[in-house]
Amino acid sequence: FNEKLGVKQQAERYIHQKVADFKAHPIVVEKSTSVYDAIVQLFLEDVGTLYAVDSEGHLAGVVSRKDLLRAAIGNRNLQELPVSVIMTRMPNIITIEPEATLFDAAKKMINYHVDSLPVVKEVDEQENTYLLVGRITKTTITRAYLEIMEEKSD
Ligand code: ADP
Repeated sequence: FNEKLGVKQQAERYIHQKVADFKAHPIVVEKSTSVYDAIVQLFLEDVGTLYAVDSEGHLAGVVSRKDLLRAAIGNRNLQELPVSVIMTRMPNIITIEPEATLFDAAKKMINYHVDSLPVVKEVDEQENTYLLVGRITKTTITRAYLEIMEEKSD
């Protein structure tokens, strides 16, 4: 804990941090990927959420642990079932932009009850097309919090 900075100053520093500076690499699958392969991917990459993209590379869906569990108990052939059938689809995806603050991201995750947000750049607003540039998770927010609280004052 940095005692030279006031608590208020430190909190202020924290909430002004940009999503762009803390975002992690997004783990992406094609929306035609099978649920089986998505589960394998989830373990290999050690993440809780996968993002699905269409053939043009635009964000098409979000596939969470619970989505995969639900599909696994309700379906026999997970190798034949594409994630596009089970994912949360556009336009229902809650996204965040690189220029937003971590505070904005934290509020969105809590308000919408989700564990992660895809960080996106808008390609076309009318067509709802977005390029995926990263992800923000509750872990990201916690890590940023620690980094800022432990930062040495100059
Ligand atoms: P888990 O399913 O592992 O608890 P989440 O709480 O993030 O993970 O997901 C809960 C539900 O919300 C899932 O159906 C998932 O597809 C959906 N979801 C996750 N992230 C988002 C997001 N950023 N925007 C919209 N829906 C999301």
